[in-house]
Amino acid sequence: MKSALVPDPKLAMSASCSPLRLLPSAGVRIEPLRVAVLAPPWIPVPPPGYGGIEAVVDLLCEALVARGHDVTLFAAPGSRSSACVQALLDAAHPDTIGSSLHESDHVACAWEQIDLAAERGRAFDVVHDHSGFTALAMSDRVDAPVVHTIHGPFAGETVRFYQRHGRKAHLVAISRSQAQSAPAGVRISDVVPNPIAVERWPLRCEKQGYLLWIGRMDPVKGAHRAIEVARLAGRPLVLAGPVQAGQEDYFQKSIEPHVDGRWVHYIGEVGGTSKRELFANAAALLMPVRWQEPFGMVMVEALACGTPVIAFPEGAAAEIVIDGQNGMLVSDEAGMARAIGQVGRIDAARCRASAAERYDVSVSAAGYERVYHQAIDRRRRPGILRPRVMLPERRRVPAEPGNTSR
Ligand code: UDP
Repeated sequence: MKSALVPDPKLAMSASCSPLRLLPSAGVRIEPLRVAVLAPPWIPVPPPGYGGIEAVVDLLCEALVARGHDVTLFAAPGSRSSACVQALLDAAHPDTIGSSLHESDHVACAWEQIDLAAERGRAFDVVHDHSGFTALAMSDRVDAPVVHTIHGPFAGETVRFYQRHGRKAHLVAISRSQAQSAPAGVRISDVVPNPIAVERWPLRCEKQGYLLWIGRMDPVKGAHRAIEVARLAGRPLVLAGPVQAGQEDYFQKSIEPHVDGRWVHYIGEVGGTSKRELFANAAALLMPVRWQEPFGMVMVEALACGTPVIAFPEGAAAEIVIDGQNGMLVSDEAGMARAIGQVGRIDAARCRASAAERYDVSVSAAGYERVYHQAIDRRRRPGILRPRVMLPERRRVPAEPGNTSR
């Protein structure tokens, strides 16, 4: 059901493309590097709509190129960048996110290209992986040092995975809270926040009356809780975002029945200018998350537009939101509904400044340059062997007569 509050997203899917303005890196000498950036194989870079990791990769590549680095981006077909783009598969795979077939194919092809570049005397200085799990597990199979950005929370089986394979790469966390939640034995090299080009987002001080929830339809992100909050507060709510494979039941049972086109509007997946306008005009962004939010790009996007964020203090939400300054931290739905009454007191310019100071792309690009140099220096140091995973001891089987294998 479409809302009259916002323009049709399909009318404006292209992102604003003003040249990137980067803050000068005061007095810091930047040595140009050859960087291979590995995006996931699912969605092109930049993403036409939903795609948090792809948006991060897009901006980071643009900033690294602008800072003089030679960047090759391995990404899904249809990707565009000021970096040199190499698509490795025949198609993007937005409907099979997480498929091991596509991920392993993508990574194996990237590793081949990286080896080939070295054979041709054009070795990469560093590989920066954003692609999931396969590349990290196989990081000791390429010669260049690998920097791996952890985009998800440490939960369930990922804990054991990072304990087993994390030492093969330089792990970068995207928030302090994510770094603090690292399991025993997992070494985080640095914290580098996800970037935003603040100047590309419109600052708006005069807001419309609606509340905004935007993200993927998943219970952890709390669209259903946002509906409850809006009902308690008696305010209209706009919901935006895709229903990904596997979440159709949640959407049909917990969201769709409440969408009435009057108080609750669902506008589907948005992108480009209409997404920016949606953020800029909202009275507040609601972030009723119930998981260890690793970062939460939508909060930073709202702040860049001068829109306060009202969040549950889960994971990075408690770092991004500074209670009383750029939004409010509340413990439950009733608290969120009460906070909506106070949100007019938050200064839009202060919200934007809180995003610019901490999350502008200049901050992230400088952070990654620091990590790249650490990774390269560590690899060059004599005596540092390539790390190997220790497997549990196996029972020795006596060799069969004639069996020469070791
Ligand atoms: N997004 C979008 N269109 C939508 C919904 C979301 O472009 O309809 C974008 C949103 O602007 C943000 C990203 O998808 O850049 C979601 O990133 P976030 O870190 O908030 O969530 P997650 O990566 O956990 O899904």
